[in-house]
Amino acid sequence: GTLTAVSVQACIDYALRLYQARLRSSKVEVIRRWPDEEVWVHADLVRLEQVLVNLIGNALQAMADTPDPQLTLAIDADDRQVRIRVADTGPGIPEQHLSRIFEPFFTTKIPGSGLGLGLSISSRIIDDLGGRLDAANLTGAGALFTITLTRDGD
Ligand code: ADP
Ligand code: MG
Repeated sequence: GTLTAVSVQACIDYALRLYQARLRSSKVEVIRRWPDEEVWVHADLVRLEQVLVNLIGNALQAMADTPDPQLTLAIDADDRQVRIRVADTGPGIPEQHLSRIFEPFFTTKIPGSGLGLGLSISSRIIDDLGGRLDAANLTGAGALFTITLTRDGD
């Protein structure tokens, strides 16, 4: 795809729009933590959106049985890098799975509901942009995925 200046806020909002009906029916509270000024990265809009769609979809699936589900989307930027965080209030990722979730076909979902490819494709897309995709658990509950993109110093 083509690399252009992409607004991270716009990209997240495009991805969220796809889940609008589901967010409303499952009463997920969406928390946006980002600066008022637009944050720009040099990226392929369609592919970055694909990564966000994957991460948000996983978060919503993880929170399916969670009371008061919250989805947090945060952007932090300095002059060297941009961090995009997707956090949920689901059960988190079992410690023994943390090193395997980026492997192709690794899934804990019932057959038909997940192919286990979302995270492997997502981390590949972010790698290709010169960035990284990391997973962690939040203290308390929930999973946190962090996309780190380096500013290309133009
Ligand atoms: P799939 O969604 O098809 O299972 P993914 O590559 O997107 O494949 O995710 C792989 C696995 O990582 C999931 O099956 C699940 O076990 C775990 N996982 C991903 N995101 C989350 C999350 N937000 N909370 C808990 N577990 C997660
Ligand atoms: Mg998935």
